[in-house]
Amino acid sequence: MSSSLPTRLYRGAIKIARRNRRQSPNVKVIEGLVECPCCGEFQVLENLAPGNVARCTRCGQPLERRNKTSPIATPLAFCITSAALYLATIASSLMTLNLYGRERSVDLLTGPMELLHEGWGEVGVLVGLVTILAPGVVIAMMGLILTSAFFDELPDWAPHLLAWYEKLRPWSMMEVYILGIFVAYTKLVDLAHVEVGAAAYLIAALMISMATTDQTLDKDLIWKRRRVEGTLERPDGTRVVVDRVNIHDIEMPPVQNMLSCHSCGLVGAFPEPVPQTRSVGLCPRCGHDMQRRKTNSLTRTTALVLAALIFYFPANLFPVMTVIKVGSGGGHTIIEGVIELWQDGMIPLSLLVLFASITVPVAKIVGLGFMIIQTERKAEHGLLFRSKLFRIIDVIGRWSMIDVFMISILVAVVRFSSLANVTANAGVVSFASVVVITIFAVHCFDPRLMWDVAGHNGPVTPDEPPERDELTGVAQTAGANIQNEMEPARA
Ligand SMILES: [Zn+2]
Ligand SMILES: [Zn+2]
Repeated sequence: MSSSLPTRLYRGAIKIARRNRRQSPNVKVIEGLVECPCCGEFQVLENLAPGNVARCTRCGQPLERRNKTSPIATPLAFCITSAALYLATIASSLMTLNLYGRERSVDLLTGPMELLHEGWGEVGVLVGLVTILAPGVVIAMMGLILTSAFFDELPDWAPHLLAWYEKLRPWSMMEVYILGIFVAYTKLVDLAHVEVGAAAYLIAALMISMATTDQTLDKDLIWKRRRVEGTLERPDGTRVVVDRVNIHDIEMPPVQNMLSCHSCGLVGAFPEPVPQTRSVGLCPRCGHDMQRRKTNSLTRTTALVLAALIFYFPANLFPVMTVIKVGSGGGHTIIEGVIELWQDGMIPLSLLVLFASITVPVAKIVGLGFMIIQTERKAEHGLLFRSKLFRIIDVIGRWSMIDVFMISILVAVVRFSSLANVTANAGVVSFASVVVITIFAVHCFDPRLMWDVAGHNGPVTPDEPPERDELTGVAQTAGANIQNEMEPARA
């Protein structure tokens, strides 16, 4: 660590060595080097000064953020606040509706339970997962991770927990739920007297507290507290020695020999070119499978985008809910809900719902489809635009849940038999499916592939078949032109 050097991000393209000179069979773990998760560029990243954000020099993706606040104590304080707010939210009432003297009060759990009773169990479970279970689990995990970071060295379970935290965090949708409550409230005020319960305000506070935990959390600093094992376990069970080096002490290894751990970001340089998606061993820092790119990224994303496209039509053509007011009424589709808000004079809100429920799913399906096609075509232009598009799609994806949340609240609270009643309809299942499937599709897509096929990340090494004498029963068909025979590890 050359801490005396001023903190800055050095720009520099990586020269690709034409030939591998005689190299040691050891794996090098390179400090001071990071790979951009969005475009695959390896770049030198010095110790970042507090208050700074390092961005990728090629695509602008934030690589590291250093806060001015304490890296562990501050997020821990907000995490404890979140835990208290979460428990209070669960115990409080969300909304009370008073219609001609008849009162009905609901809490967070009522919506999912009503959906379950009505036969829309899949949507009920989904709403319960993302508004009750996931936030609770995420807060508990973060509390454990931050507590473990107080030790001099991160305990063995912490890396797994941090990896799971990353996976689960997007599924905690409190910030979307608060908008769902707001839309539901505006739909209810002209129907009956609505009293907003404490839970609504607590959720708003919880949303801010959870967002602040994430903002003040410094995962890179936490990872730096984790030791790097002296050996790396190869897929065949053998172990190779790991050399820890600093990027300033060595020549930049060939880019096709390097990869970064998808979980903790540790950069490793291997003696041979790294296959595109096959695992080359377990990360010596976090134990995650080390592979260069996500497995079957394009195939999986294509399948999920097509599935989302199929669900998209019933989601918009079929009513998502039936609203009965004094014996009359009928089904509402998503777009009818938007029009109704507009006619009621709630123009900003109707535009918000239009954006979240109509624009976002279309943008995700069309955007991902476009990125898949361009990657298959090995297109070389518009890479920066596509990388930005991917980041936008990734961020906005969850906001489509507004309508699903609104329906879950209306279904729970408007239960006055023929006087006023709201029930869910088949459309909501399709709509929720579109949202969930597209979230998975974005997760499966590896944006670095776009830069790979355009030739910006060095030669692509195909996934070789397994070694001759190992992994019996696996056909050795694929993987033409193996560039470099993998050296069996001599640990
Ligand atoms: Zn980048
Ligand atoms: Zn790792």
